[in-house]
Amino acid sequence: MYDSAEDILNYVRENDVKFIRLAFCDIFGVQKNIAIQPSELPRAFEKGISFDASAVSGFMNVEESDLLLVPDPGTLTVLPWRPDHGRVVRLFCDIRRPGGAPFEGDCRRLLRQTAARAAQRGYVCKFGPECEFYLFHLDEEGEPTDRPLDRAGYFDIAPLDKGENVRRDVCLALEEMGFTPEASHHEQGPGQNEIDFRYSTAVRAADNVVTFKSAVKAIAAQHGLHASFMPKPLAGAPGSGMHINMSLYNRDDRNLFLGDADGFLPEARQFIAGILARTAELSAFLNPTTNSYARFGLFEAPRYLTWSRQNRSQLVRIPAAEGDFSRMELRSPDPACNPYLAFALLIEAGLEGIGEQLELPAPTDCDLYEAGAAGDLPALPASLDEALWLAERSPLVARVVPQATRDKYFALKRAETEKIGRGPDRAAREHALYFD
Ligand code: GLU
Ligand code: MG
Ligand code: MG
Repeated sequence: MYDSAEDILNYVRENDVKFIRLAFCDIFGVQKNIAIQPSELPRAFEKGISFDASAVSGFMNVEESDLLLVPDPGTLTVLPWRPDHGRVVRLFCDIRRPGGAPFEGDCRRLLRQTAARAAQRGYVCKFGPECEFYLFHLDEEGEPTDRPLDRAGYFDIAPLDKGENVRRDVCLALEEMGFTPEASHHEQGPGQNEIDFRYSTAVRAADNVVTFKSAVKAIAAQHGLHASFMPKPLAGAPGSGMHINMSLYNRDDRNLFLGDADGFLPEARQFIAGILARTAELSAFLNPTTNSYARFGLFEAPRYLTWSRQNRSQLVRIPAAEGDFSRMELRSPDPACNPYLAFALLIEAGLEGIGEQLELPAPTDCDLYEAGAAGDLPALPASLDEALWLAERSPLVARVVPQATRDKYFALKRAETEKIGRGPDRAAREHALYFD
């Protein structure tokens, strides 16, 4: 673990590092970076490296456009898919204004602050995201096609499963990057895969999602393939979710999801109740594309705001697990979300449940895909438009996301729904916007 600027400077000197990628995310969680040479690194730590923030989604306007990137030394990782000589490393950065004040649109900072507030109240929330993705063939020009890599299904093996070498290379790369990959498998859809890695505290877990997506895309490209995290890339086939596993620790480092025979401790129940109460109004952040809403209610993706101990048609599932792995799984989020905003909002929603001592509704232990089973249960929003309407009126969202960022997020997302529109070409427009 490298903790200080000096550690990083030494590492760079001793390990033949020639390029340092200074990385950050726009307000939609899309990773951006600039590569600097080792000679510039001391300056980056002392003063920051400036960039044109008016060209980044949701950041600044042209009149006031300079922001600075200051690397966070705790995030050093080598990019193992880049050459071994003249190596490339990556650091996530804090974003500052000229003069040094923090930039309020820095979502990574927002999550750090939210986690710190939770810690002051005596809680640490840990996150284990599970990202699903599809692998597609490229055409002769190297452009992605919509032909999935294989026709395999859940847990299939080679030769049906053609993704095994990509998954292998991703797991090996993740290990080199300091992750603990846990399991990987072919998912239900043709060409659909999943790779799971060990849970961690909030900021680290969100960094890991961003890193994971770039690793999968880079390694798929090395295999001559396109990896897509689009929530519903193929109509009629399973969507790709990003289930978020959450556990909650108190001041004694006790996992409150550790249940006895009767279930969880009251705080864990209230935490789940808080999440259930707020997921609908957070959906514009957990499911940020118009395409996200095509995933719900099919192929083990939820539609109703319910929970159960096992059933996969529910929004919240309590997986069979013991010890530190005891947790809740939120099944609606998808990999298009900004993990920093998503995790910050979920921490607040859960802690609000504790603060208000919310009562956990009874579990819904039935298959909600069966006709009539849902009755009049409350549902997730049916479209991004509906989700935005709820988010714009959410006091929780207003409390967590600063006004300037909120305004930009909503305005850009509203413009997006308008651009996608309706009608027969809608699927083609979604594909053009989200497939990459
Ligand atoms: N692909 C499903 C979804 O859209 C989830 C399948 C699973 O349970 O892993 O959420
Ligand atoms: Mg899965
Ligand atoms: Mg899962």
